[in-house]
Amino acid sequence: MAVKCLKCNRDAVIFQRYSGMHLCREHFTADLEGRAKKTIRQHKWVSPGDRIAVAMSGGKDSSAVLYFLKKVFGERRDMEIFGVTIDEGIKGYRDPSSVCGIAEKYGAKCYVASFSERFGVTLDDIVKKKGDKNSCSYCGVLRRQILNSFARELGATKIAMGFNLDDEAQSVLMNVLRGDSERLLRKQSPAEGMVPRIKPFMYIPEREVALYASLYVEGYDERGCPYSYNALRADVRELLNDYNYRHPSAKYSLVNLGEDLKEGLKDDNTKISRCSFCGEPVFGECHTCRVLREIKK
Ligand code: SF4
Repeated sequence: MAVKCLKCNRDAVIFQRYSGMHLCREHFTADLEGRAKKTIRQHKWVSPGDRIAVAMSGGKDSSAVLYFLKKVFGERRDMEIFGVTIDEGIKGYRDPSSVCGIAEKYGAKCYVASFSERFGVTLDDIVKKKGDKNSCSYCGVLRRQILNSFARELGATKIAMGFNLDDEAQSVLMNVLRGDSERLLRKQSPAEGMVPRIKPFMYIPEREVALYASLYVEGYDERGCPYSYNALRADVRELLNDYNYRHPSAKYSLVNLGEDLKEGLKDDNTKISRCSFCGEPVFGECHTCRVLREIKK
């Protein structure tokens, strides 16, 4: 016999180990969307007049965030939700037209920028020249820059990221394991040229975002990047999932720790300046120009 929803006795679609609740489709949806709305309210992430660019990878998380934001804010005349996607130039991964097809299906416009047109090089070129050991470091630096500058050019006031609870907990643990106190304590206020980022699903576990996407979103692609095996994140994910199985609130604890460490710090403890070469806002050295010099040498 099917397990029943704790709230209404319909068939359950999920069991939340951390809350002890079995939930049906309707109560699971209300629970997830309610928590995402609460996260947005608590962080004061959305204001009238916002133009929100959703950073789309074509996977479940960012596709689900776009669907959720369109559902909640899509009827507002004073706001716009649209998709942006970055083509890194990785063969067999991320077809920009399919990614944009998801956004368009839910009534959002979608825009594409690429490493090759902006930097004159693809990630495959970089791997060919430098090997694949540091592919994610190069990719991360270039992608962050292009996402910010592209969203800014499109007039975005916010960039919505698809990060879920697992991603956020992994990031905190990675910073701890790297001994990177600067990142752990980085608290950034709005700065000219930097489009603020919002993360509506930061308290929603990955498996719940996956279920939400499978219930409501069509056309997303779960093929991973061929270079993802190099990421430290993959090791941390495995370690954390194993630990979390025995301690189901561990991921929440890590994310809360990351937030608490920033509580009480000065509003903006980062020193943002402009790169004298590319003109983009930077913290200290311009990593994009350093990476481009290194790979074009
Ligand atoms: Fe870039 Fe690494 Fe992500 Fe692939 S896995 S898209 S190389 S950051």
